[in-house]
Amino acid sequence: METADVVIVGGGIVGSGIAYHLTANGCRHVLVIEGESAQGKGSTGKSMGGVRAQFSTPVSIQMSLYSIPFYASFEERLGFPCDYRPQGYLFCATTDKQIAYLRTNYAQQVKMGLKNVRLMTGAEIRSMFPQLRGDDIVGGSFCSSDGFVDPYSAMIGFMTWAADHGATLWRNTVVTGFTRDATGIASVETARGSVATRKVVNCAGAWAASVAKLAGVDLPVEPLRRMLVPSEPFNEFPHTAPMIVDMSNGFHFRPEARGFLLAWNDPEEAPGFKTDFDPAFVEKILTRAADRVPCFANLPVNPKRAWAGLYEMTPDHHPILGEAPGLPGFFLANGFSGHGVMHAPATGKILSDLILTGQTDLIDASLLNLRRFTEGRLIHETAVL
Ligand SMILES: Cc1cc2nc3c(=O)[nH]c(=O)nc-3n(C[C@H](O)[C@H](O)[C@H](O)COP(=O)(O)OP(=O)(O)OC[C@H]3O[C@@H](n4cnc5c(N)ncnc54)[C@H](O)[C@@H]3O)c2cc1C
Repeated sequence: METADVVIVGGGIVGSGIAYHLTANGCRHVLVIEGESAQGKGSTGKSMGGVRAQFSTPVSIQMSLYSIPFYASFEERLGFPCDYRPQGYLFCATTDKQIAYLRTNYAQQVKMGLKNVRLMTGAEIRSMFPQLRGDDIVGGSFCSSDGFVDPYSAMIGFMTWAADHGATLWRNTVVTGFTRDATGIASVETARGSVATRKVVNCAGAWAASVAKLAGVDLPVEPLRRMLVPSEPFNEFPHTAPMIVDMSNGFHFRPEARGFLLAWNDPEEAPGFKTDFDPAFVEKILTRAADRVPCFANLPVNPKRAWAGLYEMTPDHHPILGEAPGLPGFFLANGFSGHGVMHAPATGKILSDLILTGQTDLIDASLLNLRRFTEGRLIHETAVL
């Protein structure tokens, strides 16, 4: 029978980031099992690639404070590019309530050690981007070390480094079950046979609840469709722009290639495994785009290039990290609620620490464990896009 020190179920950016950190910390027999024929066919390949530290809760900010510098030095550390572009995130507020919210978050971010964030007046935003309709913008916040990465490159970089240092990747291999004994997890069952192991990490993204169920663990992670619309080449807005967020309705966009990538989370979307792109979404998003950026009324869009993917949502919009209660050796790295790319480096370190030493100094890991739901310790992240 095959054996491994740690088996990672799912070869997206989260599984790959954990494989990297485990291997870098001396764990030699890491096996990543991916059900698809290639990595990146889940949410990672569909992501917008935004990375930011502008969150509302200390634990989300702490995870970004590890992850963003990690992405900034990715190529130096791993020898692979991740295309980190520190163009920033600019939140534009249109009400005093939103300004008060940004101010509270700013104070928290600075307290946690974030250096590059600043509050802006409406006039400053209007002069920075005269192309925006700014009559109702009353202020905002901007962080220059926020920005974007290429999630696919980061995932491949993590996995290639891990494989070069002893980890193994199985593709085309669906995990179908787990066995346990008096000690805890004993083996992983796959389409390719059993693997004996005492440590498993569930990194199955939007499919995490069904993988957890195979081990008898009830995981509150739901898939939710998100759609993105890329434009054709367009030069009437600067390509050096940050991710710009219109807080009046959640519309946000960033430069991508020679055009722009548009996003808006339709509040009418219901949870489920839908990954088809709805053509009716194009008009909905372009209406919001042209309302905030008048020149986007001329933005050329080919709906055939638009796509949909799945967020993995938890009830409090924070991930679920750590060992499952009652099942020693069954670790969870799930439910990133739209932040799995930006928090993959921190997740890699946290899980590697917990698996190899039973503790981590990056966060208070008890805040994000699965028990918080049964113990009523939810910590709501409200800065969700
Ligand atoms: C449209 C969109 C925009 C986004 N924008 C951002 C953003 O700007 N910034 C950000 O940080 N995040 C963003 N996200 C979220 C981010 O993409 C995810 O949180 C992240 O990719 C999750 O990574 P993962 O490795 O956990 O999951 P995935 O990439 O989905 O990988 C899970 C893998 O597990 C495999 N798997 C599942 N079941 C099994 C099984 N039984 N056996 C073997 N393998 C299995 C799947 O095939 C898959 O490859 C966005 C997501 C979407 C959809």
